Amino acid sequence: MRILVSNDDGYRAEGLDSLAGALGPLAEITVVAPDRNRSGASNSLTLDVPLRVFPYGERRYYVNGTPTDCVHLAISGLFDEPHDMVVSGINDGANLGDDVLYSGTVAAAIEGRFLGLPTMAVSLVASSGRHFATAARVASELVMRLMRTPLHASMILNVNVPDVPYEHLRGLRTTRLGHRHRSESVVRGRDPRGRTVYWVGPAGEGADAGEGTDFAAVAAGYVSVTPLQVDLTRHAALGDVDEWLRGRAP
Ligand code: MN
Repeated sequence: MRILVSNDDGYRAEGLDSLAGALGPLAEITVVAPDRNRSGASNSLTLDVPLRVFPYGERRYYVNGTPTDCVHLAISGLFDEPHDMVVSGINDGANLGDDVLYSGTVAAAIEGRFLGLPTMAVSLVASSGRHFATAARVASELVMRLMRTPLHASMILNVNVPDVPYEHLRGLRTTRLGHRHRSESVVRGRDPRGRTVYWVGPAGEGADAGEGTDFAAVAAGYVSVTPLQVDLTRHAALGDVDEWLRGRAP
């Protein structure tokens, strides 16, 4: 069993080390991660400059690219032997609701969807504790469960772990994605030469954070496990759009 580990916080991130360490006893681990923090990179590929791969330890590599570049390289020719699954993280921060559209952590997991086993993105809903060990233990338990009792391959599990000691977790919950309010306004500032610059502001608070959502589960102290799919088709709207195209009111 070979597991590819990646992240979006960069190869020096504490969460990546905790994850690789926790999965080490279960499988042969290869780490391919970005050379710097690429949080918010989503599913982007680097097409304007060549990618370079730098070893920094045994089966450890960093790349001047995005999380998607890293996983794409790793499973499309960088290594002779195939990997069975991708586990991405542990992200320093939540990936709840709309976050998954922007997340490089989730994107790395998505890029591994064609491998033999479901892929997993693991995020720590970090506040002050920074209990990466808790999330690492949860990740290894879920991987063990997948090895014992497989789920459909091509499934993507988005896992968010509350930032508490392991003993304080209340359990695991299967959830759906909630939604956030609009993000806060961009923050305007000035560079040292007096020119206007902008910073993208923080994400909004949970708007649909009710029963059954990932927001509600982590707020109540549970590990949230959301099965994701890549099909963005709004199946329920196919009929309405078809009527509309035919010139009729839906
Ligand atoms: Mn990140």
